[in-house]
Amino acid sequence: MDKVVIVTGGSRGIGAATSKLLARQGYAVCINYRQSQQPALALVDEINRSGDEAFAFQADVSNEQQVHAMFEEVNRRYGVVSHLVNNAGRLFTQSCLADISAERFNQIMQTNVLSCFLCCKAFINQTGTKRAIVNVSSAASRTGAPFEYVDYAASKGAMDSLTKGLSLELAADNIRVNGVRPGFIHTDMHADGGEPNRVERLAENIPLKRGGTPEEVAESIAWLLSEQASYVTGSFIDIAGGR
Ligand code: NAP
Repeated sequence: MDKVVIVTGGSRGIGAATSKLLARQGYAVCINYRQSQQPALALVDEINRSGDEAFAFQADVSNEQQVHAMFEEVNRRYGVVSHLVNNAGRLFTQSCLADISAERFNQIMQTNVLSCFLCCKAFINQTGTKRAIVNVSSAASRTGAPFEYVDYAASKGAMDSLTKGLSLELAADNIRVNGVRPGFIHTDMHADGGEPNRVERLAENIPLKRGGTPEEVAESIAWLLSEQASYVTGSFIDIAGGR
């Protein structure tokens, strides 16, 4: 198949909106999830019923063996993975840095950064034509998320550095690597931070006076993956309502 994409953490939120949009644009989509099997299968069903191509694959993308198994399965079904969206990510309860344990810090780094590294590595090491990677970072990499999630912000800063460095390593091979930095987006992630209505609470401080939607983030991801962005690499799109 010509356009084959893995969307990590594709079962919910931004990943689900991205999977849907890319399937509509003609990509064969591997929707990766860690534990949300039901939403992942429902999304595959919805995409397949529209006549587009997708399947779900369970893998913890911070585990190298599971990442390899996922790439092997996609290669077997569709051929080389030509595009990659590193979207899987998480955060924990809002706290000051002094209250964050070393164990939590490591977990955040593994889920948000190691996963991105492992998937980029598996992607590059395939034989065949690879075209583009988009890493889903966060506005937190710029703000530092003080008193909330400095660990999460630091993980997104690391993703930005990885994006920049890898874009330069792969530019001569015409493989583009870019990032998006969403701001406050309406998804379930904020409930994991202990405040489901966080976006509503902070909306007044956002220049555009509202939170964003997963679909608005998906549009930028899809553009960066596409040939319309053929001269864009090592770049970041801030999707944060002006923040
Ligand atoms: P979400 O609704 O909580 O979805 C997170 C997704 O990541 C789920 O599909 C989850 O799968 C998956 N995931 C987590 N750990 C994983 C692992 N180890 N292996 C595979 N999948 C894993 O979050 P979201 O808001 O859509 O966030 C998506 C990305 O955008 C994240 O990287 C996040 O940091 C970033 N972002 C979000 C916002 C925002 O305001 N929402 C702002 C800036 C950046 P399971 O459900 O199966 O665990």
